Amino acid sequence: MLSEKGMMGMGNGVARHDTKTAENAARRAVEAARIVQPEWAGRTVAERAVALERAAKRMLRDRQSLLHLVKEEMGKHEVEGLFTEALGPLDAVKAWKKIVGKAQSRRVLLNPIAFPKKHARIAMVPRGVVGIIAPWNFPVSGLYRSVVPALLTGNAIVLKPSEYTPRSSAWFPDHFAREVPHGVVNVVQGDGAVGAQVVESGIDACVFTGSIAAGKKVRVKCAELGIPSSVEMGGKDAAIVLGDCDLERTVMGITHWTLANAGQSCGGIEVAYVEERIADRFVEALGRAWSKLRTGPGDDDVEVSPLGNDHQLSVVEAHVKDALAKGAKLVTGGKKTSGRGYMPTILDNCTAEMDVVREETFGPVLAIVRVWGTEQAVRAINASKYGLGASIWSKDVARAERLVDKHDVGVATINTHQFTGAVPQLPWSGTKQTGFGVANSELSLLTYMHPKTIAIDEAPSEPFFMPFDRTLRDLGEALVKAQLGDLLGAAKLPLLLRRRAKRLREFFKG
Ligand code: NAD
Repeated sequence: MLSEKGMMGMGNGVARHDTKTAENAARRAVEAARIVQPEWAGRTVAERAVALERAAKRMLRDRQSLLHLVKEEMGKHEVEGLFTEALGPLDAVKAWKKIVGKAQSRRVLLNPIAFPKKHARIAMVPRGVVGIIAPWNFPVSGLYRSVVPALLTGNAIVLKPSEYTPRSSAWFPDHFAREVPHGVVNVVQGDGAVGAQVVESGIDACVFTGSIAAGKKVRVKCAELGIPSSVEMGGKDAAIVLGDCDLERTVMGITHWTLANAGQSCGGIEVAYVEERIADRFVEALGRAWSKLRTGPGDDDVEVSPLGNDHQLSVVEAHVKDALAKGAKLVTGGKKTSGRGYMPTILDNCTAEMDVVREETFGPVLAIVRVWGTEQAVRAINASKYGLGASIWSKDVARAERLVDKHDVGVATINTHQFTGAVPQLPWSGTKQTGFGVANSELSLLTYMHPKTIAIDEAPSEPFFMPFDRTLRDLGEALVKAQLGDLLGAAKLPLLLRRRAKRLREFFKG
């Protein structure tokens, strides 16, 4: 792996950079990648997959080093890290191998009457060098869906990890780098300014995951440069809890999908719209469970990981303060513990004016909005500026299915939430300001490959070739009449085609 640091020093857990050095680092990385990429692209998908699978197996064996790094850089508990960061690389490579394998090349059957003796196929061609700009919240598993398909489709990559998790995120490509030609996998470290340099360093496509503010800039720059981009931005997912839900299961599920990764997931539940008829019982059961959960920098003695960095902690504190000032009721939590631990927090009686309902909180906080019916909840979800995911919790699955159809989001789930983000076969995408980038599934592959149509003609000539004359006009008129169901026009076609072929032979014979 070529790892260009461009770093001037470390302070407060954040790498600081000289942007000039970083610009050179990004450009050098792209140049190196471009030289070796054709060799990598010359291998088959199966050959590339063998190399990546070998690396993924080594990652599984090396998991302890990753768990230490992730804990050191963002405080994630090792048990949580084991499940969310360490378990998946081999499964990811195997799943993507199938998805990419199917998308490589296909023949297209052409109508033999309209296109006699012609054959065509679509070949998918790697873009070249793909720039990947990543956030910190899932420093390794968040890369499965970009790094793995980018490499399997035959691209070289330049990865810019988050400045908060530079070593955890470099761990992943570092393992791949040992199994692929030198220069296929590159890492450029730095902050947002370095990310901007990567976008302008000559890459052929860009995959960005992160905040709305940064994502919009990346999308605009890519459009100016004329390179394809997949930009996936923030979320503010909601759950609708219906009066007929299985209360115990719903409390369990909403607890997990709100507090997993300390709530720092783009697709984590942040708001629960709860039908009034079940709200008291739901809030009481949730509050009882959450007040037993522990948080802080430990491991086996705590359940909820601390927040990933000081900035995130300050956002969470500000949102809770804003909600309480605007009349929310604190059910449990609302306080920092040791380190960057923040107690799992439930706020009841929340309203649309509160930041905790409107803006991405990205922390272990659930805002409860009591509603009188599903329409009110669906309207609120659709009015949100975010559009990543929403779920409905109900025993009446048929009704829930009808309701999810009304959600203006990219991922709609029933009695579960966000797990599909880890399923390579299912598209992970959003609407509204979350962005229209698509990760996962064959639908994401156009970011990594462009289609090339290859057509072969074995016919001696074409009736519509020049010269344009009376014989061609007669043929065209007959074709129009045939389409309109005029049988006489259709019957004339064989004769007109023969006449045309004769005319062409005579014309070109000289
Ligand atoms: P961020 O936007 O601050 O940073 C993301 C990455 O972009 C970092 O590597 C950063 O250095 C880089 N960056 C910042 N400004 C840039 C610029 N102008 N040009 C190029 N690169 C730039 O986001 P973050 O705080 O690291 O991540 C959290 C955000 O990511 C949350 O909003 C979360 O919802 C979102 N996220 C979304 C998804 C999704 O699939 N939609 C997945 C994970 C995280």
